[in-house]
Amino acid sequence: MVGAGVAGLIAADRLQARGHSVIVLEARDRVGGRTFTEPVPGIDGLRVDTGGQWIGPDQRALATELDRFGLQTIEQSGQGQTQVSLRGKIGRYSGSTPKLGFAAVADVGQALLRFQRLAGRVDLEAPWATKNADRLDAQTFETWIRRNCRTSKGRDFFRIACEAVFATTAANLSLLHAMFYSRSGSGFEHLISTDGGAQHARVAGGMQQVSLRLAHGLGDAVRLGEPVTAIRHELDQVQVRTTAGCYDARRVIVAVPPTLAGRIAYGPALPAVRDSLTQRMPHGAVIKCHAVYDRPFWRDDGLSGEAVGDTAPVKVIFDATPPGDHQLGVLLAFIEGADGLGLSSATSEDRRNAVTAVLAHYFGGRARSPIAFHERDWAAEEWTRGCYGAHLPPGAWTQVGAALREPVGAIHWAGTETAVRWCGYVDGAISSGERAAKAVSAQL
Ligand code: FAD
Repeated sequence: MVGAGVAGLIAADRLQARGHSVIVLEARDRVGGRTFTEPVPGIDGLRVDTGGQWIGPDQRALATELDRFGLQTIEQSGQGQTQVSLRGKIGRYSGSTPKLGFAAVADVGQALLRFQRLAGRVDLEAPWATKNADRLDAQTFETWIRRNCRTSKGRDFFRIACEAVFATTAANLSLLHAMFYSRSGSGFEHLISTDGGAQHARVAGGMQQVSLRLAHGLGDAVRLGEPVTAIRHELDQVQVRTTAGCYDARRVIVAVPPTLAGRIAYGPALPAVRDSLTQRMPHGAVIKCHAVYDRPFWRDDGLSGEAVGDTAPVKVIFDATPPGDHQLGVLLAFIEGADGLGLSSATSEDRRNAVTAVLAHYFGGRARSPIAFHERDWAAEEWTRGCYGAHLPPGAWTQVGAALREPVGAIHWAGTETAVRWCGYVDGAISSGERAAKAVSAQL
């Protein structure tokens, strides 16, 4: 296995359970990849998920692993109202419909319905085989937004929602990819929702526990700090080279995002279509920030801590206060897309000031002075290079998409980007690991 993220660990777990001998080679000095539950410096005992954290109600693969390890969930949706801010004006609302004014709400409603219907047509197993795939893949999601939203607030809503889901602007996405990703995750509305949606619940104690428990079960088979640099492959034999040594095996499952898989040297070189795919699946950019306060003071004003708006560089905010009898309050702010890339090279002080200015816009002056501030910039991580997952620009699904899961001789591919359901999410990482393990086991 290359990669000890959720996908690689699940694949190893399932293969070991079928009696195969496995080794998991991980570049970092920890397991979990894009899931990471870290301590907040200066705050005793507080740990936050700086990577993946939420589970939605219909993510059965992840729910099964949580049950297996006895891990509990905490519903995200708390008491209080959500805030929306467009062009400097803040409104509050309860429920799932943002307060944008009658015309904009009606516009968003009709556009969501149209998009839902369109996305419902996509072939999840083979998006390139969808009816009119060439036409759908030749335009961007931004083109669709311009043609289908009639109000400027409606367009703003879709653009902000797109950044929240894909961590990149709608102009970078193939429409076919936006359709695929939405259907893969039970619908666009589901992807942006808290109650009953993809942000429904957090894992008590943190999402990384799934990987930690899996790795514990695999014991010495997991080798940390061993980046894979090269793979020599024949029909029934591979040699995997790391910075520390060489491993011979009958099969290898590469469970890293395609753009990182493309940085490994293969001998012989991979088929052109596969190599081209790895050049055409970039990641979005996210800096995930946690601001810690001595108490969740926003709740006194009847606010849930959730906010959304055109308030760059932070457009989406959630309450991340941990459960328990401590007094702390935590606000979670995402810097996404172009803002994430732009601020990646700023000083941490500048980033903190930019984030707390937006928090103060929504929650008042107290939000300017957290007692602690923690951030993780995923685009700057050598072994991730952006998130949440990869996206496909126009033309990629129809020209090279078929190479995404197709094994190349003894090399198999896993990772959330290869998932049919919940692509881009932890749930998709699990099902991708299961699929690859099953295929390899059948061959052996
Ligand atoms: P990864 O986790 O990326 O694992 C790949 C592993 O391979 C890594 O450990 C990496 O270090 C290693 N690696 C890379 N290259 C090499 C190499 N050459 N040699 C050896 N090892 C290598 N999902 C949700 O379901 N809910 C959420 O709320 C959510 N929020 C997110 C928020 C953020 C900020 C981020 C970053 C992600 C979020 N996600 C969320 C997405 C989710 O975390 C990922 O979909 C999932 O963790 C991907 O797992 P994976 O195993 O496919 O890939």
